[in-house]
Amino acid sequence: MSTAGHSAYRGRFAPSPTGPLHLGSLLAALASWLEARHAGGRWLLRIEDIDPPREQAGAADAILHCLQRHGLHWDDSVLWQSQRSAAYDSALAALQAGGHLFACACSRRELGPMGDCRRGCRERGCHQRGAPERPASPYALRVSVPATFSAHWQDTWQGEQDWPLGATLRDFVVRRKDGLYAYQLAVVVDDAAQGITDVVRGADLLDSTPRQRLLQQLLGYASPRYAHIPVLTDRSGQKLSKQNLAPPLEATAPAHNLRAALTALGQTAPPAEVSSVEALLAFALAHWEPAAVPAQPVVSATAAH
Ligand code: GLU
Repeated sequence: MSTAGHSAYRGRFAPSPTGPLHLGSLLAALASWLEARHAGGRWLLRIEDIDPPREQAGAADAILHCLQRHGLHWDDSVLWQSQRSAAYDSALAALQAGGHLFACACSRRELGPMGDCRRGCRERGCHQRGAPERPASPYALRVSVPATFSAHWQDTWQGEQDWPLGATLRDFVVRRKDGLYAYQLAVVVDDAAQGITDVVRGADLLDSTPRQRLLQQLLGYASPRYAHIPVLTDRSGQKLSKQNLAPPLEATAPAHNLRAALTALGQTAPPAEVSSVEALLAFALAHWEPAAVPAQPVVSATAAH
């Protein structure tokens, strides 16, 4: 499907609509936008709305509006994961045909410490389990990790990465028991479909990358380059996230927010007379220095508006 040649840069931002953007997500969006524009490439947007129970009504629209107010305009039309079931089903069929998939009806308590299946569902074909008069219990679809699989890549901000995944994880879920597609599957299918050459995202997703690189290999996709931006913390070292109620970004103070994000990214501060969103972004682009991004960006609690 993808022939992600690395010549024409294609980056993306892929928020989940579980809440409004906060300064930490602006950092990822801005770094990804700056990398793409700096390379003269395209910057795509994907709304990862595949987990309705975790989503917040109105969040997707608020995210789109907020990005626009911050001058982060995307190319092409937005890709909505909620409309991509057919693509995910064909990827599952391809994994199945390759013998990489198995059904597993284990409960959470039956799973191993890494959330992997310890009861031999792969061997037993456990979706057949259950008395004939009762329907088989709901099952998840899992991908087996080959014992020898290791993921290696050179990460822009995290340096050389070497993850012997097969030594630590036997398998992982690609379609959940409740029928929802797993993030790991959807992100890989869509990065390939959008021809993404460069993934710039928060380092909180670093440990997902080995699973994604395995899926890319099993599905015959090219792997993009990865750049995991260090996660923004407050002064006490606490990660800013929707979960710990990082304040939502006010779409009314975009220039202020962009300045705060550039400071956290260790970039040259735009002079005071640079005040519009467009001028701030143009300045940031002209002075973009990926090597200046600190290992641990910190923000004071009042930086976001
Ligand atoms: N949707 C994910 C999130 O909002 C990001 C996925 C990605 O960038 O790969 O955390």
